[in-house]
Amino acid sequence: MNVGFIGLGHMGSAMAANLVRAGHVVTVFNRSADKRQPLLDLGAREATSIADACASELVITMLADDHALRQVALGEGGILAQLHPGGTHISMSTVSVELTRHLALAHEQVRQRLVAAPVFGRPEMAAAGKLFIIAAGAADGLRACQPLFDAMGQRTFPLGAEAAAASLVKLTGNFMLAATIETLGEALALIDKAGIDPAGFVELLTSTLFPAPAYRTYGSLIAERRFQPAGFAAPLGHKDVRLLLAASEALHVPMPLASLLNDRFHRLIAQGGEQLDWSAISQLAAEDAGLRRESSS
Ligand code: NAP
Repeated sequence: MNVGFIGLGHMGSAMAANLVRAGHVVTVFNRSADKRQPLLDLGAREATSIADACASELVITMLADDHALRQVALGEGGILAQLHPGGTHISMSTVSVELTRHLALAHEQVRQRLVAAPVFGRPEMAAAGKLFIIAAGAADGLRACQPLFDAMGQRTFPLGAEAAAASLVKLTGNFMLAATIETLGEALALIDKAGIDPAGFVELLTSTLFPAPAYRTYGSLIAERRFQPAGFAAPLGHKDVRLLLAASEALHVPMPLASLLNDRFHRLIAQGGEQLDWSAISQLAAEDAGLRRESSS
């Protein structure tokens, strides 16, 4: 298939590479041009503008946040203005429920389609083509995107026609991950202060009560205090908790744990943790316990 791809960060570069490897004709655009080169070396075509990336029927975006997606989709010379009628924008970034709803409507008004398809999985999983894709939008749009999803992910979960539902499910999953990180941070501070080996504790718990990928991945990152380089940077994690709180407010659903996590991210970032992986909020519990805080690897 012919597809444009906009946003070659940690996730997008790996996802676009898998599309190229699967034989799709991929035209890549990134705001910072230097990130395009590795994809061109793999066989992708270069877009030097958003318009170039919108030349085919399909364009994927994998951008940092609402601000970036608004600029790229709705700004001057953006996707809405450039994509042909009948074209589909596949929005894979983690963004607000409100923006996804707004984009779906805006695309519909110019006879384009929006498929929201945010993902679960860190950059290693993106590189291995093992993402989980949460997809929502018109049924024929979802069907058309499936070969692309198959190249990037191990499984697609279709959620129906309401694109914004995919954003809400993604944000809710990330809230649960952040809560898991906080739980692990507090538990490992206790274990560590008692003089018990944190890595051994994680091994025991993930072999018994919690044999879950989230506990394995974050348990070992926290036990080894491995927060750099960031696979998922703390400001992006903070963004997701804020967007979750906005969605919970809109639906009048109190989520006190999300408020606590919001404060954790505020503190980490205020104290210079911008470059760290989001799992570094675990170190705040260690600090509260009077344990040494690691700010790097
Ligand atoms: P990243 O490495 O920070 O990449 C962000 C991308 O957005 C870059 O291509 C960046 O371009 C672009 N961008 C930022 N602001 C822009 C703007 N104003 N205009 C145009 N482009 C802009 O982020 P990532 O880790 O790949 O994450 C991308 C999305 O996936 C986020 O929504 C994140 O929440 C979600 N996600 C991440 C993970 C993960 O583990 N990393 C997992 C699942 C979902 P430049 O290169 O020019 O800065």
